[in-house]
Amino acid sequence: MEHFAYRHSDLCCEQVSLRSLAADVGTPAYVYSKAALLEGYRGYDDAFADVPHVVCYSVKANANLGVLGTLARAGAGADIVSGGELFRALRAGFPPGKIIFSGVGKTRDELRDALKAEILMFNVESLGELRALDEIAREMGVRAPVALRVNPDVDPETHPYIATGLKTSKFGIPFAQALEAYAEAASLKGVEVVGADIHIGSQLTRTSPLADAVARVAALVKTLRERSVEVRVVDVGGGLGIRYRKDEAPPTHRDYARVLLPVLRELGVTVLLEPGRSIVGNAGVLLTRVLYRKDTGDKKFVVVDAAMNDLIRPALYDAYHEIQPVAEARLGAPAETVDVVGPICESGDFLAKDRALARTEEGDLLAVMSAGAYGSAMASNYNTRPRAVEVLVDGNRYTIVRRRETYEDLVAGETVL
Ligand SMILES: *Cc1c(COP(=O)(O)O)cnc(C)c1O
Repeated sequence: MEHFAYRHSDLCCEQVSLRSLAADVGTPAYVYSKAALLEGYRGYDDAFADVPHVVCYSVKANANLGVLGTLARAGAGADIVSGGELFRALRAGFPPGKIIFSGVGKTRDELRDALKAEILMFNVESLGELRALDEIAREMGVRAPVALRVNPDVDPETHPYIATGLKTSKFGIPFAQALEAYAEAASLKGVEVVGADIHIGSQLTRTSPLADAVARVAALVKTLRERSVEVRVVDVGGGLGIRYRKDEAPPTHRDYARVLLPVLRELGVTVLLEPGRSIVGNAGVLLTRVLYRKDTGDKKFVVVDAAMNDLIRPALYDAYHEIQPVAEARLGAPAETVDVVGPICESGDFLAKDRALARTEEGDLLAVMSAGAYGSAMASNYNTRPRAVEVLVDGNRYTIVRRRETYEDLVAGETVL
């Protein structure tokens, strides 16, 4: 996270001080580094440079138009999982020919909209979806480019809520049924089989489950070719983990490519990648202000103005986020063990539990690190809290890429009887 570092005694995003930013836009605020975003994207683009490939950023990790537009302009494609994300991706300027549509429950309207937009590929997850897509495409007089998402049944060794490649998960077509499903797909007039797809989970910290999964897909592609089903695209999904704790060392883009490339190169396919977290996760922080301190005798609490509605990952996944004071001088204060909690009326509303932090005082600014992915994207209005402002920093300038919600925004669409 070298794009977030102390300069002139304040924590900065690139050249912008988070203290002056908080004074300008208020807290809580999501702050993103454009340089970090582009680095995340280019890391993949470079690592896969010697095979035909498209890095399709997984929109659900952070769907802000400022983030999407930055990646679209850099040349990325988009991996979407809903009609809403299709709308956003097109609005942000992704070429339809670089958009792939994943997800286990696409509605007929969503399929139709994506066919109309002429996207690159549909990652189909069930026979029911395949038949629906075929029917809609024939009605429209087009052929839908299709990959089947197969479930390779490997253990991604991650949190159960974000493990997707085990045979007990709802995702993909069971590996044992894949050949039969491809045979049906190849017989349909409304679809054109172009690829095979996997996505085994998120926050993967080892490459071996990915290697196993890709090996299984490669074997499948070879069998399909023997049966004259020509697969020319392999989508390896997303899921590469990021460093949340200082002592973690997840695989780099290079490590990831080194494991996958030999197999993919031999197949001679176009490679699609669907990274989300590893592009945007460490490109963002959640900036918050300490409201109160509280010592119950048994426990010390630091009550801040950000809450689980802004960042649900600690409550939902037991996730760890580093917390840093914005004022560098605070680092010298004696350490104490605290819970960092928000104002929401739930005991699950915490950003950190039993955390050793340098003592911080009321009014201090704190940065919740590594919050760029699945932070603002999963934010809600619980407790009728307006969603936070989002800011994209570029060098010594910043742009508000989403204004803070107003109370009027929150009740728009509702009716008093
Ligand atoms: C969530 C998701 C991704 C992105 O996962 P990350 O862990 O953020 O890289 C990619 N593909 C599919 C199908 C997904 O559901």
